[in-house]
Amino acid sequence: MRKFKFKRQLALIIAIAVILSLFAAVALILAMGGCAITGSIPVPAMTNETSPAEMPTTKESTPASPPSSSGNAITSNTMPPAPETTAVPSSLPSLDISLKSGKTTVPPTTTKPKTSATKQTSNKTTSSAGTTEKTTTTAASLSAPGAVAITFDDGPGKHTGKLLDALKKYDVRVTFFVQGQFVESRPDLILRMHQEGHQIANHTYSHKYLSQVSADVRRSQLKSTSDAIERITGSRPTLMRPPGGYRSEPVYQEAGKQGMATVFWDLDPGDWKKNNKNVNYIYNYLLDHTKKGKIILLHDIHQTTVDGFIKALPVLIERGFTFVTVDGLVKLQPGDVYPSYWRR
Ligand SMILES: [Zn+2]
Repeated sequence: MRKFKFKRQLALIIAIAVILSLFAAVALILAMGGCAITGSIPVPAMTNETSPAEMPTTKESTPASPPSSSGNAITSNTMPPAPETTAVPSSLPSLDISLKSGKTTVPPTTTKPKTSATKQTSNKTTSSAGTTEKTTTTAASLSAPGAVAITFDDGPGKHTGKLLDALKKYDVRVTFFVQGQFVESRPDLILRMHQEGHQIANHTYSHKYLSQVSADVRRSQLKSTSDAIERITGSRPTLMRPPGGYRSEPVYQEAGKQGMATVFWDLDPGDWKKNNKNVNYIYNYLLDHTKKGKIILLHDIHQTTVDGFIKALPVLIERGFTFVTVDGLVKLQPGDVYPSYWRR
């Protein structure tokens, strides 16, 4: 009798379990059907990306001739392809369920949504295959999206000391893309940058357009600059900015081989142009354009830039802006290119 009762209870439990799992299966099928039909799963939003309107249009040191295929396309409006959109969230299993709606297969390959911060894979092949993989894997996402990275190129120059004074006064850190020749002629300024927490990065030894020179020159322009910086600070730079924005895959790869990522910019006031060498122009540009999460290009070899920046800095701070080095804004690996839309 007792045995019989136990069997009945067991049967009842099994029956309930079967009914419940049937309900669960129906609910899952309905849910998946709904997604496939309406496409209601949100697509990853575009983040950290500069709009096409902000694509750099500067002609800083660009060649008189149109950009060649070797990659000095500073005027290029080529944007990276839009992120792959898919109605399938990555969390769903790759099931093969036939639904009445006709939407049937969930291919496993679509389960990895691409965000705009994902590195663009390059189709270009070069003789050195060693570093290619590195440059196409990691995703660069902003570690300080609320901050701004101010960068100063071409120095250190004769106004850099004054700039460092102001940065110290307002407790602001920036990134200097320095030329090796001036690292050697003004080592005291390099040491001061280092001691005061600024980031020192490589801008070649003598402002050579890296996509326009031989592989040997490219290598030595970068190496001699990193060597000079290391002699003074004890550490080698991890970032490089190619003079004039002249760029190509071999440039990125050489930088990668030497332990550096290539960094361009989001915002460029063209402070080196004759008509823009004006304190109020720089001041107004910075007040009007400074934006969170962006890299701004300036040149500390121009007095008007230094003075305009020093004038704008307290106002920007009052408006709530905070400043970080490029390294503080985004974590990059050797061979990376940032912002990634500069790559093509
Ligand atoms: Zn430069």
